[in-house]
Amino acid sequence: MSILMVANCPGCGKVFQKNLRNLCYDCVNILQAEYDTCDRYLRANRKSTTEQLSMATGVSAKQIIIWIKDRRLPVTDYPNLTYPCNSCSEPIRQQEMCYSCRSRLTKDIREMQEKEAKLVHNSFAYKNRVNRY
Ligand SMILES: [Zn+2]
Ligand SMILES: [Zn+2]
Repeated sequence: MSILMVANCPGCGKVFQKNLRNLCYDCVNILQAEYDTCDRYLRANRKSTTEQLSMATGVSAKQIIIWIKDRRLPVTDYPNLTYPCNSCSEPIRQQEMCYSCRSRLTKDIREMQEKEAKLVHNSFAYKNRVNRY
């Protein structure tokens, strides 16, 4: 017996049989049409920004950003397609955060790890002391 995997489509809310795209066929078709519209617009307007593209095509900026991150809309071809950094909202074109937020985060993580390493070291030293008695 096979279990039919159904879910509510996140695009339109209809119940559908789950597939790889995680969208019902109607939404897959709509999305494909939206993508084609964006693609066509960009070919004619290579310097368009994310906002201009969204305004011109009626496709939500959120969806356009998903395509930028998926590299379906390559920023190498379209120099002004950007999306906001997760942390400070600076326009970025790759990863989730801008360079300065990423380096700050790396520094924070390193400091945290150092602190943790010190803590582990301290409790280890304490255990050794206790064990001696
Ligand atoms: Zn749907
Ligand atoms: Zn940032």
